[in-house]
Amino acid sequence: MRILLIFFLLLSSQSFAVDFVSEKKALKLLQDAPKTLDLQGAREAQALALDILKKTIEQNTWSAGFIADNAIFKRLHSRLAKANMIIELPHDKLRFCDENTMAYAFGHIGNNVYLCLRALKQPIEIVAQIIIHESAHFVVGTNECRATNLEVLAMMNSDLPYAIKNGYWDRCKILRFQQRVSRYMSEK
Ligand SMILES: [Zn+2]
Repeated sequence: MRILLIFFLLLSSQSFAVDFVSEKKALKLLQDAPKTLDLQGAREAQALALDILKKTIEQNTWSAGFIADNAIFKRLHSRLAKANMIIELPHDKLRFCDENTMAYAFGHIGNNVYLCLRALKQPIEIVAQIIIHESAHFVVGTNECRATNLEVLAMMNSDLPYAIKNGYWDRCKILRFQQRVSRYMSEK
């Protein structure tokens, strides 16, 4: 499976890679795009992500170094419930979507989850997983490993598979984390 990157971008003026796309080029990109989820679809994915987090709050038994009693998932759920789904379009001036980026959010601050068009071409379950990762940045900040751990834990508590691996999989030793959680869950 192709490894997909989900980038988190620091909110600093230096890290803004501004990519201006001409209107003509933007229109062509939009016309060429296969049918994608629209904003309504993105909100349905958000609702699915909230269901997954609710289930995780009820049944997660693995604190994974986070605060016990699933407080972190409760915080995550309430942040995501208030979050706006924003679809980044090719003609937007401040663009972070590229061939390696599915979505992004700003750590701690803001309530916006920015979804790239290529994310919205995925099945809704994958979009929900991506949304969980991005909204995890609202509670763990820029730490990609912790955001991915929360994403993995949530998906392991859902009835859905962990469908895509992000670009931090190896660096954050996520497979090992997943195996530890699996063992722990099967012993319960
Ligand atoms: Zn991230």
